[in-house]
Amino acid sequence: IKRIAVLTSGGDAPGMNAAIRAVVRTGFYYNLEMFGIYRGYEGMIQNEIKKLESKHISHVLERGGTFLKSARSTEFRTPEGRKKAFENLQKHGIDALVVIGGDGSLTGAHLFYKEYGIPAIGIPGTIDNDLAGTDLTVGFDTACNTAIEAIDKIRDTATSHDRLFFVEVMGRDAGFIAINAGIGSAAAATLIPEKKMPIERLVERLKARTKAMKQSNIVIVAEGGKSGGAAEIAEKIKKQLPYYDIKVTILGHLQRGGAPSAMDRVLASKLGVAAVEGLLQGKYDVMAGVINNKVVYTPIAKAIVGSKEVDEDDFRVVRILST
Ligand code: ATP
Repeated sequence: IKRIAVLTSGGDAPGMNAAIRAVVRTGFYYNLEMFGIYRGYEGMIQNEIKKLESKHISHVLERGGTFLKSARSTEFRTPEGRKKAFENLQKHGIDALVVIGGDGSLTGAHLFYKEYGIPAIGIPGTIDNDLAGTDLTVGFDTACNTAIEAIDKIRDTATSHDRLFFVEVMGRDAGFIAINAGIGSAAAATLIPEKKMPIERLVERLKARTKAMKQSNIVIVAEGGKSGGAAEIAEKIKKQLPYYDIKVTILGHLQRGGAPSAMDRVLASKLGVAAVEGLLQGKYDVMAGVINNKVVYTPIAKAIVGSKEVDEDDFRVVRILST
């Protein structure tokens, strides 16, 4: 392997820049030529591929987002699109790929490897933390910190006015951010996609807390959960607890932004080194992850299907602490 290209794809996540930097620096360390593919798979199809120099990666580690930009590409889902992408890689003499992204992006890398045999390795980059084969994904820790910081601010106004806030956090199919935000911000209840909480139970809990003179209340809701989004649940609760002043806040995209936390910088850096070294050791079609603080390589096929579940113990902690 002489020329490696790196791309970021799918939803952006804080720490992606740190991962790109680590990939590129490791490449230089091993005297490889490094390329950046702009706008993910879409850029691969449109031939937005540039050779990277040291100057491209200076002062990026600490910045949120991804300087290579990210995109969702419908064309890459088609065999014709992937053919174009492969031809562009050939034009630049690229013989290996590092893909930083979530489960969709890694699925694309797996398929591309199967079709064209180009050595590819994945780095889990998503705020959702929903990939197997790693304890944490790059961006998750920062997103949790951002959510908790925002909820702390919401609690100030909730307390001043004895309000009940429904705060919606990201995580369409996975409640990891919600669980951590719930534990870290002492929420009255946490609603996640993996578990349905009957409205009656939530009402009972909120009534009990009112009796206990806990007059400000925060309920965390993961977007698109089984019980509905924050606005939908708030509507239902309003009917049953009319005396409460109820507000809804959707944290939305602010959870994707901001400088990466120390933990995300370190994780992204370790995985960037691991990705390039993995390729040099012939580890293809795998994702580099960290389990019990050690780098491990998991076949991409396993990392994407074994979609990680919220730990029952974590959910128990939520239940105990919000009773
Ligand atoms: P996030 O978890 O943050 O949403 P993601 O990587 O899962 O990130 P997706 O939009 O699911 O985001 O996937 C990113 C891109 O990967 C898609 O736009 C598409 O180009 C490619 N991709 C996803 N699934 C496939 C697939 N089955 N076949 C080929 N390409 C795919």
